Amino acid sequence: MAEISMPDTGSSPILIVEDNLLMRRVLENHLLELGYSVTAADNGRNALDLLDKAYFPVVITDLVMPELDGIGLCRAIRTNSYRGYIYIILLTSREAKEDLIAGLDAGADEYLVKPVNQAELAVRLKTARRILDLENSLRRSCEEIRLLSTKDPLTRLFNRGYLDERLPQEVKRTFRFERPLSVIMFDIDHFKTINDNFGHQTGDQVLRDCADCIRRSVRGEIDWPARYGGEEFVVVLPETNLPGACVAAERLRRKISELIVVADGTEIRFTASFGVASFTPPDQKEDLSLAKVLIEKADQCLYEAKREGRNRVKSTQL
Ligand code: GH3
Ligand code: MG
Ligand code: MG
Ligand code: MG
Repeated sequence: MAEISMPDTGSSPILIVEDNLLMRRVLENHLLELGYSVTAADNGRNALDLLDKAYFPVVITDLVMPELDGIGLCRAIRTNSYRGYIYIILLTSREAKEDLIAGLDAGADEYLVKPVNQAELAVRLKTARRILDLENSLRRSCEEIRLLSTKDPLTRLFNRGYLDERLPQEVKRTFRFERPLSVIMFDIDHFKTINDNFGHQTGDQVLRDCADCIRRSVRGEIDWPARYGGEEFVVVLPETNLPGACVAAERLRRKISELIVVADGTEIRFTASFGVASFTPPDQKEDLSLAKVLIEKADQCLYEAKREGRNRVKSTQL
């Protein structure tokens, strides 16, 4: 399963946006003393430039500044999308009540009255930490759920839903880069007999071993296998022409025929039948339904392989 990469909200510096040099220095010193690292900008425009280059989980901004003021900065941050949530603290003077309301309305989370009190700053940053941690764990859970929904629980391969969604994208990419695309489809031979003779648990073990065998046989970051149905699997091979895909299918066929699953002290051996379909862009008109055609053709070849006696590879060029 792919690693989930989340923004590091813990060690990133705090972004201070303040046009008054003295105020900026005072705030910077407070933050350094509290153990934070700091990056500074002297107006909203420069702050947005910095935010384009790096993620700052906390932004402390003045309200009145040249070029782009604090309210404009808040609005821009809430409109743009960043790697993670940005917690915004406004710096305000005691008499600027209306500006403060406008700033909070524009998307700021919190405010501090100038001159900033260090103890108050410390607790406001603790609140920021809590909110950022919550947001981060929510983001992580959503990403985990998204990844789980693309996987088949028994084999941990991609599921049919993922294949149906991703294959048309792969077809699109194939046309953009004018490279070939191939699909291998295979089905375990006489699988019902394994279930009937040794039980479903053993059948499931055969499916898991097959999945492991596929993972070991394909090019790690390029080819992607999926469980198509019960004992039917698909391997998508980007940038691979028909002869290349046939070599991969033949290698997989041989490896599967060499697998041994042990049940009740009996060694079970099995085979699978393969269909391969392939196309190269200039030979075909760009059409997203090609994903469906590719699967259909591979399926037809697979059934031809079954008809001709199983444990073999049949292929077709679209
Ligand atoms: P053929 O060589 O023609 O493919 O014969 P077969 O017996 O493999 O084909 P058939 O389609 O008749 O059997 C597929 C069987 O796969 C039927 C179904 O009970 C079984 N099956 C489907 N999903 C699972 C699963 O998740 N676990 C187990 N153990 N069996 C499953
Ligand atoms: Mg100012
Ligand atoms: Mg089948
Ligand atoms: Mg079968």
